[in-house]
Amino acid sequence: MEHSTGEKAITKSNFGNNFKWGVSVSAYQIEGAYDADEKHLSIWDVFTNRKGYKGHNGNIACDFYNNYRNDLLLLKSLNVPNFRFSLSWPRIFSTTGSYNTKGIDYYNRLIDCCLEYGIEPWVTLYHWDLPHYLEEKGGWTNRDIVGRFEAYTEFCARLFGDRIKHWMVLNEPLVFTGAGYYMGVHAPGKRGLINFLPALHHAILCQAQGGRILKEICPNVEVGTTFSCSHVEPYRDIEKDRLAAQKVDVLLNRLFIEPALGLGYPFKEIKILQRIEKYMKPGDEKLMAFDFDFIGIQNYTREVVKYSLLTPYLHASIVTAEKRKAPVTRMNWEVYPQSLYHILKKYSAYEGVKKIYVTENGAAFEDVLNNDRIHDHQRRDFIKDCIHELYKAKNENAKVEGYFVWSFLDNLEWSEGFHPRFGLVYVDFETQSRIIKASGEWYRDFLSDKAFLY
Ligand code: BGC
Repeated sequence: MEHSTGEKAITKSNFGNNFKWGVSVSAYQIEGAYDADEKHLSIWDVFTNRKGYKGHNGNIACDFYNNYRNDLLLLKSLNVPNFRFSLSWPRIFSTTGSYNTKGIDYYNRLIDCCLEYGIEPWVTLYHWDLPHYLEEKGGWTNRDIVGRFEAYTEFCARLFGDRIKHWMVLNEPLVFTGAGYYMGVHAPGKRGLINFLPALHHAILCQAQGGRILKEICPNVEVGTTFSCSHVEPYRDIEKDRLAAQKVDVLLNRLFIEPALGLGYPFKEIKILQRIEKYMKPGDEKLMAFDFDFIGIQNYTREVVKYSLLTPYLHASIVTAEKRKAPVTRMNWEVYPQSLYHILKKYSAYEGVKKIYVTENGAAFEDVLNNDRIHDHQRRDFIKDCIHELYKAKNENAKVEGYFVWSFLDNLEWSEGFHPRFGLVYVDFETQSRIIKASGEWYRDFLSDKAFLY
């Protein structure tokens, strides 16, 4: 393909035939059917349905549980070859540890339908919807979670391992432990270091144990796990801001990957983390590590950081994009595609990282429905710019071999409700109708070699 100027265009084929292109979703954000077919409540069902909660809930969401065949047909029409979704633990396991056949049947049907349509299913074991009955026992703060998670992993591996060739253990452990157990803004709404530190340590143990169990049971599948990550920069070129940025970088980008790589916790930069040792047992250091086949990185923006005396523990604070008068998305996140380039370079530099997939990247912008069309050029351009950054990094030997857009469908953006829309496909949550946005059409054309990047 050529530009009108005669210049060679960058197309899908520039990324190589083995490069994996896809889209991502998660169970709670799209499935709905929150109490159908004997499903148990998750912490998110309880959090969003509690008395006085002003936000939206995932009781119906995109009703994907009932619509999945049509939605997968739509995905096939977009020519997307890989579909990343998560399993809902409380749909599969009951309180007593026995399983729910109806929930299992649903995932069997979903997986079989993907395969029937020629779409490769990629599974995340845990995308934040912990069974509520486990939260009642302390959830991620109780070490008992490790054994529970091992049993869940083993069960899923035996059930679906014959057809699922790509697995991810956890989705963004920093977010579910940080927002859910430190800041209290996500389910289950707990706060403070007293909850965060044990949750963090147990998530790290589950991350590695999950990987080990999957590999033991299904030696021929690819096993990874995913991390939220943002490029971090100091606000001013002064020592204090540089140190502050370094600490935030540890928290956002290093805290979960380094123990997995056998490098231990980054205690040196953030002293307070040392308190984790209280929750560690002999032998944990070794148990925290696992040799993942790939690392999933999920990137949306960058963070700019300055020294702040008032912020406890870190002495660092984020200078918001709004304050810096930088362009933002509907989430108030800075529009900064270059972040992906930096993150890919950073993670590729770890010797222990063998392969990277960008398992989430995308943006929420206001969508305007105009004669049944959505001209979401900002989202389309953001995705194009990010893929371009990825291309640059790949050309400089970043170990990246796949890219997944977040998200296939507009869905429930957790505590932010239904208003931030990330989808390539618009969802009318009243009628459950779907409209492919301009960004979705561009991605389809790009994947069909009919559109180019630049
Ligand atoms: C999560 C998704 C979420 C997206 C946008 C990631 O943190 O994995 O569930 O919807 O980012 O916020």
